[in-house]
Amino acid sequence: MAGIASVPAGSLGLSTHMKLPNGIEYDQPLGLFINNEFVPGKEGKAFEVHSPSTGDLVTLVHEGTEVDVDIAVDAASRAFDDGPWSRLAPAERGVLLNKLADLFERDLSILSSIEALDNGKAIQLARGDIAGCIGCIRYYAGWADKIHGKVVDTGSETFTYTKQEPIGVCGQIIPWNFPLLMFAWKIGPALSCGNTVVMKTAEQTPLGALYVCKLIKEAGFPPGVLNVVSGFGRIAGDALSRHMKVKKIAFTGSTLVGRTIMKNAAESNLKKVTLELGGKSPNIVFDDVDIDRAVEWINFGIYYNGGEVCSAGSRVYVQESIYDKVIAAFKKRANQNVVGDPFDENTFQGAQVSKVQYERILNYIDIGKKEGATVEAGGERHGEKGYFIKPTILGNVTEKMRVMQEEIFGPVCTIAKFKDIDDVVAKGNGTNYGLAAAIHTKNLNTAIEVSNRLKAGTVWVNCYNSFHSALPFGGYGESGIGRELGKEALRNYTQVKTVNINLA
Ligand code: ADP
Ligand code: MG
Repeated sequence: MAGIASVPAGSLGLSTHMKLPNGIEYDQPLGLFINNEFVPGKEGKAFEVHSPSTGDLVTLVHEGTEVDVDIAVDAASRAFDDGPWSRLAPAERGVLLNKLADLFERDLSILSSIEALDNGKAIQLARGDIAGCIGCIRYYAGWADKIHGKVVDTGSETFTYTKQEPIGVCGQIIPWNFPLLMFAWKIGPALSCGNTVVMKTAEQTPLGALYVCKLIKEAGFPPGVLNVVSGFGRIAGDALSRHMKVKKIAFTGSTLVGRTIMKNAAESNLKKVTLELGGKSPNIVFDDVDIDRAVEWINFGIYYNGGEVCSAGSRVYVQESIYDKVIAAFKKRANQNVVGDPFDENTFQGAQVSKVQYERILNYIDIGKKEGATVEAGGERHGEKGYFIKPTILGNVTEKMRVMQEEIFGPVCTIAKFKDIDDVVAKGNGTNYGLAAAIHTKNLNTAIEVSNRLKAGTVWVNCYNSFHSALPFGGYGESGIGRELGKEALRNYTQVKTVNINLA
């Protein structure tokens, strides 16, 4: 794939002053963040950061390669083994995380503006992302001193207890659709449990995490606890997932790369693996609903964040008797979404993240048309420049079509009819994915029966894309391994030690 260019770093500094279209000014770090310092990459490389809404070059950032990953892992390893981090009381980790959350709150307008610039998402949604980061970090701050084992009664001649110990250096590889929110979902539980982290951000969106590194330092985290290496997946990501001193790898991204990560873990040191991968989630509308309300959720389910959401409700199924009414209302609603400048307060749908992604989505629309789908709304680019795509609905689809089976990761959904519960459960479960699903109905029995029968990690009833730090999120099937968020995520970042004492 023609992607982002790697170029010589030349005289690139470690920081640049930024002036954003909404008047926000701040200093953007450009270096890798290792041992609480910003540094250039050892190989003297950098890569380009573009604004998805204009296509223009924003800045270069320093690129990390295998050698930098090595240095960062060493720093994280020292911090874990014998640094101040390892001696910190669990409650103190909570204090630091809470401080970090306070700094996110203080700098909310800067952070949300960086996300709008770097990812192209609407500023109103970006603010929601930062609020989500704050909630997540506070949630895991609260867990820091509540992670403990058990005393197990094994009889009078032994005394046995278990401990929940941190794992060590965690490699974390995150995607570009929610650059900071995914960062928070990853570091929250990892640091709360007492691990150290080497993070590789997505090459499309490195800016927000580098700004947060300043906040990490300001909050008072000891050096080496959190390190960020900006770089490419096939270079820095590959090195991280193969590294012998990385004891756990957490990945969010495509199913294709998820397989590679797991293989790399198997071929190196059998590091623990958690994966949060793709989806093709069904959004199911029964005929007893209030149509306007259901259409609001269908619309939000697919067009939220420009459809660049792993849990996007990309397959809409409507019960036969109301299909015509729903599709008419949905077409009208889809055309009302305000698409455009991410910095415009009225915008709901900003730009797709990159040219590559934009072309991929348009190509899928083409594939759908060739397969016989009808374009019920959108189906083409929006505006003259930047990577905008109109909210798109594909009708006249059948289950085997590629647009019904493959994740498009853009503002494109399919809409199809179903007859009854058995029919929609079969269709809903008809892909290899199983990340999320939704049901719209007023009938409690229908809601419970269908949610029981859908093979998905999350089922929403009469809502969509509703996340909470306390609620586990992750996939059935090829949508992933393990759960993020909630108490569940603590499992990813601890290992159990059993201590058995002979009293006889
Ligand atoms: P997309 O194709 O939509 O960009 P990816 O799954 O490729 O999604 O990207 C998610 C994250 O995985 C990014 O941080 C990316 O750099 C990283 N990545 C991509 N390829 C690899 C790889 N071979 N090994 C490790 N990380 C990778
Ligand atoms: Mg990729």
